[in-house]
Amino acid sequence: MRQCCLCGGKDLVPLFKLDSLPISHYLRKKLDDPDPRFSVGFESCKGCGLLQIVDAIPADLIYSQADTYTTGFQRPRHLEDLITTAVARRDPGSAIDVGCNDGALMEALGRAGYTKVVGLEPNAIAAEIARKKGHKVYTSFLDRKSADGIVAECGRFDALYLRHVVEHVSDLGQFFAAVRTLLNPEGLLILELPDVEEGFALGSPAILWEEHVNYFTQALAEYMLGRFGFGVLDRRKYVFGGGSFAFVAQMEAVPPSAAALPDPAPMVKMLQGFVARMQRQKEELSSLVSQARSAGYQVVMYGAAPRSCLMVSVCKIADMIDFVVDDRQDIQDRLMPGTQHFVRPLDKVAGTAGDKVLCLLGVGSENEFKVRAKLEAAIKAKFAFVSLFPPRNTLESVDGARRAIAAHK
Ligand SMILES: [Zn+2]
Repeated sequence: MRQCCLCGGKDLVPLFKLDSLPISHYLRKKLDDPDPRFSVGFESCKGCGLLQIVDAIPADLIYSQADTYTTGFQRPRHLEDLITTAVARRDPGSAIDVGCNDGALMEALGRAGYTKVVGLEPNAIAAEIARKKGHKVYTSFLDRKSADGIVAECGRFDALYLRHVVEHVSDLGQFFAAVRTLLNPEGLLILELPDVEEGFALGSPAILWEEHVNYFTQALAEYMLGRFGFGVLDRRKYVFGGGSFAFVAQMEAVPPSAAALPDPAPMVKMLQGFVARMQRQKEELSSLVSQARSAGYQVVMYGAAPRSCLMVSVCKIADMIDFVVDDRQDIQDRLMPGTQHFVRPLDKVAGTAGDKVLCLLGVGSENEFKVRAKLEAAIKAKFAFVSLFPPRNTLESVDGARRAIAAHK
């Protein structure tokens, strides 16, 4: 039955649809490798307001193909703060990292004094990298069965780390039941999620998809924790991947507690505004790229990570891009999802660039200034730049690029 994955409400309102979305973590090796596309409907729940994909694409289909799913390159600067916040509440004992990927957090947990650290990761390639670093890792999704198996072998854990996982989970009730199975009574749950609120306010399509099926505001995440039997002890916000928020929460004895449903009205209003602003952003960005090309500019997409893929797909600008550049070696010489463009290192394309370049900055806002400096050092051209991701305002940035193009004439 179709129902809200968070509150169980049956009244879901279709808000918008995105067509022809690629799997944004799957970078093909050859031009004729399969490039599956999906049409995805986004709905909001009248009961709690949560934006979600109700008819989610089966997880196996999305996650099995990707051999470029590792995240170790991200080097999140806030892990130490997140772990310290948890350790301040309870001495480090045993911990499980659900969605451990290639083991970056597990290493940090070991350094912070956790005595036993176990990982769980559905992507076999990422799990194998973590194992090679000496970690114990189960290759699986988290469900009741895998949780029972892990507890039989390892016992329960004092802390469960859950970073950037829940936004991929369709059946939240089953998932949190498994989370509770893994934890000791009064165990700590350390939860981190992408913060989409600023993206809603700016009308940014970049916050959508990345294979995410639900989109939490901080208030909705707190409701989720209460509903599934966790009490919030600490709250944090970080500049990571366009913004994230985190909680340290403690498992309560009796789930589910009667968490009060948040008022959906402000959320529904915010989402309606978001749909209108997103439409405007799509049109403006696409018209800028086309205007720049007519004025003799080459178009460079800097950054081929999932949020860039989404912007390119939604704004339908793949055919107007000349080069795709990314510094990550593991995705270079692969095809950017949803396009026919190979991802190249900057030094490979610098020599072939023209004397006028429009650069779409598909990188974290905190790195934009470094990327601009690198481009200006490598390519002698007149530049116009556009910021694609929150918290930067893309519409304002499009205006800035238009002014730069006018000034170059
Ligand atoms: Zn709901």
